[in-house]
Amino acid sequence: MTFRADIEFARQLDQDDPLAHFRDQFHIPKQSNGNEEIYFCGNSLGLQPKITSAYLMEELEKWQRIGVKGHFSENLPWISYNEILAENSAALMGALPQEIVMMNTLTLNLHLMMVSFFNPTAERNKILIEAHAFPSDHYAVTSHLKCHRLNPTESLLIASPRPGEELIRMEDLAALIEREGRSIGLILLPGVQYYTGQVLDMKEITRLGHAQGCTVGFDLAHAAGNVGLALHDWDVDFAAWCTYKYLNSGPGSLAGCFIHERHAADKNIPRFAGWWGHNPSTRFEMGPDFDPIAGAEGWQLSNPPILSLAAIRASLEIFRQAGGITALREKSKKLTGFLEFLLQAKLADEIEIITPDHEEQRGCQLSLKVKPGHVSGKEIFSKIEAAGITGDWREPDVIRVAPTPMYNQFEEVYRFVEILTASFSGRGSA
Ligand SMILES: *Cc1c(COP(=O)(O)O)cnc(C)c1O
Repeated sequence: MTFRADIEFARQLDQDDPLAHFRDQFHIPKQSNGNEEIYFCGNSLGLQPKITSAYLMEELEKWQRIGVKGHFSENLPWISYNEILAENSAALMGALPQEIVMMNTLTLNLHLMMVSFFNPTAERNKILIEAHAFPSDHYAVTSHLKCHRLNPTESLLIASPRPGEELIRMEDLAALIEREGRSIGLILLPGVQYYTGQVLDMKEITRLGHAQGCTVGFDLAHAAGNVGLALHDWDVDFAAWCTYKYLNSGPGSLAGCFIHERHAADKNIPRFAGWWGHNPSTRFEMGPDFDPIAGAEGWQLSNPPILSLAAIRASLEIFRQAGGITALREKSKKLTGFLEFLLQAKLADEIEIITPDHEEQRGCQLSLKVKPGHVSGKEIFSKIEAAGITGDWREPDVIRVAPTPMYNQFEEVYRFVEILTASFSGRGSA
């Protein structure tokens, strides 16, 4: 698509956007002057859908009215609430409903998955991660190695970008997996790298890993609700993601977990067990022998917080109305492409974009670095924040901005670049 760098063009794109009206379904934060913020932070905390409070109230009201009987109420019984969410998530994740469960938090799900899918032997005892893995993932993986009495300096294998580069090259990753494959128990990589916004080729990584006999799992924190996924067809062993980023389900909301159908009925997979993972038909006999549900639900520990599930249900309903990830992704490529175009047209001397320039290798987010010789990136970030932009700053020197197709506009992208440009020249701008 050919873009033009003027506001009329941006407004025209909004007018032609079939998803434009979804913005009205969200609460957009306001600046102190009453104007709406330019909220480009859906990669960190997605905005609240207007229907969320009604979905929560429905469950609060049920609890008020019938108490414990809410577990078995005629409408959306709490006991099976999770099943609806698995069905609604399946299309977004490219999975079968029985491969998905909403439970715990992302980091905890990674722990549970490693209990089940990292079983080190004398020959195969390494975990492959990437050099700039999100700290929580790094801590989780290292702690598992230690629990197995393995030394992380030997057993933690790290895929890095080449010196002076920011992105992981697929050919380097492939060579590493080929070279070290027989010693790797688990490959745990992000679907979308949180710092650079790079999309990794999950299908190819899974194929390469399996060819070497490794288990392959993905952290999809920045991928869920952002890019198209086909976890089932790619044959991924497991995945985990949070729902408060692109999935707009509220701070600290429950996380998702995918376990491939191949593992569903295998009761011999070691796991940390809890009563909610037990066969529901005998769960309330309260016996001592654990009989796991065949499918991802068999990894549940506890009965889930319904208020969090209600927020996820509200959000997934909007994704469904928007036509799912295919329609959103189409707009997203244009929205982020427009941002890239404007930055190159107006700020090529000041800003370096570290995110891949190929639209298939990135999602919504662009990660920006202020080039040396200008004011510091942090100073620029403070200025644009003061002018009503919510993005985020990531140490040491990156401004992340993520225009999301669900509620952001082309005009906002235009105004963002205008404000960013003004922040370099010292002029104020609104
Ligand atoms: C956001 C994010 C997390 C957050 O973990 P929680 O357990 O939800 O606090 C972990 N890993 C990655 C890659 C993330 O982007």
